[in-house]
Amino acid sequence: MSASPATLRLVVRNACILTGVPGFEPFVGYLAIGADGRIAALGAGEPPAGTHAEREVDAEGKIVAPGFISAHSHLFQSPLRGLGTDQTLYGWLGAIKQLSEHATAEDIYWFCLHGSVDFLRNGITTGYDFTYSGDLGGGQRSIGIGEAGGSSTVDPQPYEEAQIRAKLDSGLRFINSVSVVPLGTEEEIEGRMERIVRFAGRFADNPRFLKMAISGWVQRSAGIESAHREVRLMRRFGLMNQAHFLESPERVPEQQAKFAWYRDAGALGPDFVFGHFIHTTPEIVRETAKSGACMCWQPAANGRIGSGTADIPALLKAGIKVGIGLDDQSCGDLSDPFQNLRMGLYSIRALYKDATILAVRQVLHFHTLGAAEILGIASQVGSLEVGKFGDFIVVDPRSPDTGPVHDPVSTFALACGLRNLEQVYVAGAQVAQGSTLLCCDEARIRREVDARVARLKTLRDASVASLDLTQGSGS
Ligand SMILES: [Zn+2]
Repeated sequence: MSASPATLRLVVRNACILTGVPGFEPFVGYLAIGADGRIAALGAGEPPAGTHAEREVDAEGKIVAPGFISAHSHLFQSPLRGLGTDQTLYGWLGAIKQLSEHATAEDIYWFCLHGSVDFLRNGITTGYDFTYSGDLGGGQRSIGIGEAGGSSTVDPQPYEEAQIRAKLDSGLRFINSVSVVPLGTEEEIEGRMERIVRFAGRFADNPRFLKMAISGWVQRSAGIESAHREVRLMRRFGLMNQAHFLESPERVPEQQAKFAWYRDAGALGPDFVFGHFIHTTPEIVRETAKSGACMCWQPAANGRIGSGTADIPALLKAGIKVGIGLDDQSCGDLSDPFQNLRMGLYSIRALYKDATILAVRQVLHFHTLGAAEILGIASQVGSLEVGKFGDFIVVDPRSPDTGPVHDPVSTFALACGLRNLEQVYVAGAQVAQGSTLLCCDEARIRREVDARVARLKTLRDASVASLDLTQGSGS
């Protein structure tokens, strides 16, 4: 089909198109994006005669593929890389908390903006963002499994609003996931969620803001009431829930026992995603599959902090849908989707000593349409199809040269990397050229983040020094 010439924003011709639709075969053709930012047409060969657009790009045979989706991210942690580098989950989280606990809502705005534009530059056009509520959960000691989190008296609202504003300002497409911080009465908790949902409603007509969600907290809670609370919030506000679950290799039986809380509270279903889901049992896998709940895999982060390797083949065999996320840019350090999908592929093949256990196309699917499916946004993003958003990347396998292309899908997923990523588009508008961002004042973001992190380091060092003094005088 072809759209009316006047309505087209962009036409890319002479592209090797990987649509990402299951079973697709690459073809050389064109992609047309309408003024609404959605794909108006695509097909093999040249666009129909008379097709004109505001902008025309000759892809010169380069690969055009859907923008990557990170189905699990914490964007505000972007300026906190290289910390706790030899620590597992809770030790690393402690290092992060020492800096973030002094952050103001305005600091978090800049941090989240930094993380969002970093995603765009790296070809990730949609992110599921676990927001920071002003409290990482009550400090390093009380974050421990089995203890109730949330000790702060900080009002989460300014932090939550700042992160929604940051993502909207970045141009990233996103799902905004809010922590259910267990502070105060049930009415107060629901009231806080209502205020955040009401604020988000102001941007309901912005197509970059896909939806709201809640960040499940049961893994760090002391009783089944936390699961019932999440179910009440899911139903009242119509929100999906992604919960970090079975991530850490510590006190695994205690973590596994909490699966029954979610099950018995009626949380499990297609609008529920387990993030990480590494230390499962056959029974947990069976019941999750039966419920239609999904799973999100973070291969690079799971390796970095030594969490373990999720048994992806077993989950797939049980019928559980899998998506991939990059996790935060702190324990993920480099939000590189090419690296992330390969680490996942290689770790599973090595674990099973079998290269047929997981296909290249399947892992690519997890980071694109598969991620969209587990998040319930597959009608909008994840593949290049008429009607979906025009979010895509242009990758040049010949610069730097990876050699002749035998199979575009394999070359794209196995041989290409960020160095081959030439252009990134959201809604048919270019946001990055090489590693240069076109969508924002990058120098300004860098200056703000540098100054704010420097201030937080001073505050952290002062509070560590005063703690040492207190402990010294007491012993
Ligand atoms: Zn996470």
